[in-house]
Amino acid sequence: MELFHSTRSTASQVTSKQAIRKGIASDGGLFVTDSLGEKKVDIAGLTDLDYQGIARTVLGALLPDFTEEELADCVAGAYGEQWDDAAITPLKPLGDDFILELFHGPTSAFKDVALQILPRFMARTTASDADERIMILTATSGDTGKAALAGFADVPGTGITVFYPDGKVSEVQHLQMATQKGANVQVCAVRGNFDDAQSAVKSIFADGELAWDLENNAHTVLSSANSINVGRLVPQVVYYFAAYAQLLKRQEINAGDEVEFCVPTGNFGDILAGYYAQRLGLPVSKLIVASDKNNVLFDFLTTGTYDRNRPFFTTISPSMDILISSNLERMLYYFADGDTKLISGLMDSLATTGRYDVPADVLAKIRKTFGAGWADEDQVRAAIKDCWDRNHYVIDPHTACAYHTLATTPRTPGVPRVILSTASPYKFPRAVLEALGVEAPASDFACMDTLSQLSGTTAPAALRGLENAEVRFTDVIDVPDMTGYVRDTAMKMAE
Ligand SMILES: *Cc1c(COP(=O)(O)O)cnc(C)c1O
Repeated sequence: MELFHSTRSTASQVTSKQAIRKGIASDGGLFVTDSLGEKKVDIAGLTDLDYQGIARTVLGALLPDFTEEELADCVAGAYGEQWDDAAITPLKPLGDDFILELFHGPTSAFKDVALQILPRFMARTTASDADERIMILTATSGDTGKAALAGFADVPGTGITVFYPDGKVSEVQHLQMATQKGANVQVCAVRGNFDDAQSAVKSIFADGELAWDLENNAHTVLSSANSINVGRLVPQVVYYFAAYAQLLKRQEINAGDEVEFCVPTGNFGDILAGYYAQRLGLPVSKLIVASDKNNVLFDFLTTGTYDRNRPFFTTISPSMDILISSNLERMLYYFADGDTKLISGLMDSLATTGRYDVPADVLAKIRKTFGAGWADEDQVRAAIKDCWDRNHYVIDPHTACAYHTLATTPRTPGVPRVILSTASPYKFPRAVLEALGVEAPASDFACMDTLSQLSGTTAPAALRGLENAEVRFTDVIDVPDMTGYVRDTAMKMAE
C-alpha cells in the first residue's frame, strides 16, 4: 500500500484516508507520497470515458486505499445534477487556443471540482470513535470559502468554520459566504489579509493544547479544506485529463501529443495538479504559472529566490492575492527528489526570514516544466477587453491573468495551449464591466444584468439570487482571536 508522509519528514506514514482526515501533517508539512506516478493512466483509452469515468480512473491511481466502489459513489455524488454542463469541465476553442471552463459547479469557481467531492472522501475515512465530529477550518481568499461551505453544509459528522479577510473579497464573494445556509456552518471576517488568516489557521492546526481540549470536551478533530489537504488536490488532477480527452475527441491532437496549460495561480494547488497529471503520464509540455500583481511566484521561478517581504496588493483578482503559496512546498519536495531535510530547512527559513533560495540544480529542473508570467491590473483589464473584442467571450479577472500571460509567451508550433478558466465572470461583474469600458451601475446585481445584456449570456441563478438572500453572518475579529473563535464554535456545535 502506498503511504503518505510529511514533506518535512518521513517519520510518520499514513494512508491516503488518514492524510485526508488529518489535512496537514503534525510538523506543519504537507502530505505527499513517493509512489506518485508509479501507476500511469492509459491515454489512448481516455476517449472512451466521460468525466466521471476519467475521475474514477485518475482518483484510483492517486488514492490507493479507497475501494473502486467507494470512489464510484464519491464521483457519482460529486459530479451530478449540481453542475450546469454535462461535460463538467467543458473545453472550448478561444482564438488559436483553448479554454477549459472550470466554473460550472454550484458556486461558479473551480474550487467546486474539489470541494464537491472532498466531503464525500471525508465521510469514508474512519473516525477514532463513532460520534467524533470533524471541524473543517478554512482560510479563504474568496472562492474556497463558499465552495467549502456548499460542500460541507449539513454533512453529518462535520462542521465548518470559514475565515476570510475583511473587505478584501468581492461583494458577490462576501454575500455568497455570509448567506450560507446550514446548521453546521460558521463564517467570520478577519482584520488582515489572506496570508494572515492562512498562517493563523496553520498555527491553529499545530496547537496541541487546543486539539486536546476539542477532542476531550467537544469530540471534535480539526481538518482542512484548503488545498494543503491532499483530498482537495487530487480531484483537480482529473480535469487535466478531461481537457486532453476533449482535445482528442475534437481531433486536435493524437494520443501522445503534448499540450501546454496556462493556469491562474495563487496557492499553487491548481497548477500543481497539472504536475501530478504529468507524473501520471499525461503528455504535458509546459505548465505556465500566471500571477497577478502579487508576483512572488514569477520572481521565484525566474531567480530561485522566494521572498515574501514585499508589499501586498489587493487587486481585482482577489483569489490570487497571496504571498505564501502553500503548495509550492509539495512541488519543491518532488523536484528535490524527496529531500525532506532540505524542504524543512527552506520552510523554516520562510517562517523566520520570509525568504529562501533553492539550489540552482533544483531550479533548473523546475524550469523545464514550469513557465511563469504575470499581469498588473491594467493588463488584466486590457486582457478582458481584448478577449471580448476578438472572440466575443467574457473572461473573469483571474482567467485574464492567464490570457495576458499566454498572449505574451512565445508559442511552440504544433503544441495546443489550454487556458484554465477558474471563475465565472459573473462573480466579478463590476471589474469585468469596467474593463469592457461600460459604466458600472451601483449594485453588483445590476452589473450582472448589464453584463448579461451585453454578452448575451445568463448569470448563474445562485449568484443572481444572492440579492434577496438573508445575511446570516456578520462577525469581524482580529487575528489573535481566531483560536478562541474556533474553540467557541466547536463547543457550540457539539452541544
Ligand atoms: C483559488 C483560485 C485561484 C488560485 O488557485 P490556486 O489553486 O490557489 O493556485 C485562481 N482563480 C480563482 C478564481 C480561484 O478561486
